[in-house]
Amino acid sequence: MFDWIYTLEHIFFSLVVASLVFLYINKGQEELFRVLVVGLKQFPGVELIIGLVLHNEVTGFVQNTSLAKDKSKRSVPRVTLPQKGLSKEELQKEIADMKGKDFNPEEGNIFAYVYTVGSEHSNLQEVAFEEFQEKSGHSFEHDALVQEAFSAFLHENALNPMIFPSLRKMETEVVSMTAAMLNGTDDVVGFLTSGGTESNLMAVKAYKTRISKLFPHIKNPEIVAPVTIHPTIDKAADYFGLKVIHTPVGPDFRADVKAMEKAITPNTVLLCASAPQFCHGIVDPIPEISHLALTKGLPFHVDACFGGFMLPWVEKLGYAVPKFDFRNPGVTSMSADVHKYGYCVKGASVVLYKNNDYRKHQIYAYAEWPGGLYGSPSMAGTRPGGNIAAAWASLKILGEEGFKEITQKLMETTNTMKEGVRKIDGLKILGNPHMTCFAIGSTNPDIDIQAVADVMETKGGWKMERQQKPSSLHCSILPHHMPKADKFLDDLAESTKEVKNNKQLAKKGTAAMYGMIATIPDKAIISDFLVEFFSEVYK
Ligand SMILES: *Cc1c(COP(=O)(O)O)cnc(C)c1O
Repeated sequence: MFDWIYTLEHIFFSLVVASLVFLYINKGQEELFRVLVVGLKQFPGVELIIGLVLHNEVTGFVQNTSLAKDKSKRSVPRVTLPQKGLSKEELQKEIADMKGKDFNPEEGNIFAYVYTVGSEHSNLQEVAFEEFQEKSGHSFEHDALVQEAFSAFLHENALNPMIFPSLRKMETEVVSMTAAMLNGTDDVVGFLTSGGTESNLMAVKAYKTRISKLFPHIKNPEIVAPVTIHPTIDKAADYFGLKVIHTPVGPDFRADVKAMEKAITPNTVLLCASAPQFCHGIVDPIPEISHLALTKGLPFHVDACFGGFMLPWVEKLGYAVPKFDFRNPGVTSMSADVHKYGYCVKGASVVLYKNNDYRKHQIYAYAEWPGGLYGSPSMAGTRPGGNIAAAWASLKILGEEGFKEITQKLMETTNTMKEGVRKIDGLKILGNPHMTCFAIGSTNPDIDIQAVADVMETKGGWKMERQQKPSSLHCSILPHHMPKADKFLDDLAESTKEVKNNKQLAKKGTAAMYGMIATIPDKAIISDFLVEFFSEVYK
């Protein structure tokens, strides 16, 4: 009996494979892929084929990107330790060679990743900041001074708060300055972490621990958050065994508070929203969600990783910003990245809690180890001292005035760019962004915004940030963009025209891949693709 079913299955399987081969020969890999994922995934063996196709796609993709310049070499031999260490000159040459192939952030061609005020070596800076430097007298020095502070604590370790009192003092001061900036009462406390991811992970971890202590009957805890919440919340939920219930955003890209309310169940343990969300730079209706949190008796985490060090100054300069911080009584925790608009080197973020009753659940303690009593406030055990000193230095060097001055310049540049984008026929800004960030979309079905990004990259040397649902391009504005705003707008207008006149562009390059991804209903497949991608890139 079983044999019989087995045989049938095999016949069926062979038929499937035959038709797939037929498809592959006649229509190419993309069509095959689409058919596989949309129609056949549930059939035996198909999953395996999908895996193979995925692997093939990813290898091809990686080989076509800058990651593998030498396309002839399929696999590179394993790198081992040099027999004899490099000389200083050799080392410097290797580093310079590698760096030479990277984007230079100071040229202002990228729209994420690097948050600097500017280095003294950049002549672009002098153009952009002549006036600013005159006024403030401290601008160009900023990055160099931060680096100096970092170097001064290069090998110090914040693992044990009693060994280096300097680090403890700087950390508590960074937390305190951030809490005050975000209008926290004197009860607000927090920790410095290695970045926004760790801050969000730690907040979720703290709530998870709190729930298991206070409400142990909740076995399947859930977080309610809008779809625009940063994936680090999903990552945290995945790590710590919670589930995120995603709710829609309105046409203005802000969290739909009614939808959040509807999503609350007896399993809900946390509400999350952003100030602002990274995708479009728009602040969620924090006061309304705060109210909801209070009426439901739920804690509320505001992810201000992106805007924590920007929105306070935007608001002080008189721009309209919804109340996004601890002024809302329902907000129980916030995260704010010093290594974004706090202009610190990478590896610094702050997670804050309304009071220690929340924060204490973040701390891990273990008393049974033969090596001694072990306690640790965050993910890392050994914690680099340099990052703490750099964060402290960055905030102290700028002060309120420094922050406000940079913010004013950045907001002016942002507004110039937004107005410029709006003037380009067929383009729009998504929603009404609140700070130094915006997303560009298309108003004309003939203009594929992903194809515009492709042209911007191949012709203009820009690196564009592609987004989906809806298709758009993300831009975060930093000092290095100030001298490039006009060139950006000219190139954007030119690229848009080119895409409009040449429909084929939407079927090529990255635009084609994004187009294909948009048609695939099963996003689990895309996740598999991403996992393959990372496996391939880090070979
Ligand atoms: C950047 C960012 C994060 C994650 O921070 P990392 O520093 O990249 O770990 C989380 N939330 C928002 C809104 C962000 O912009």
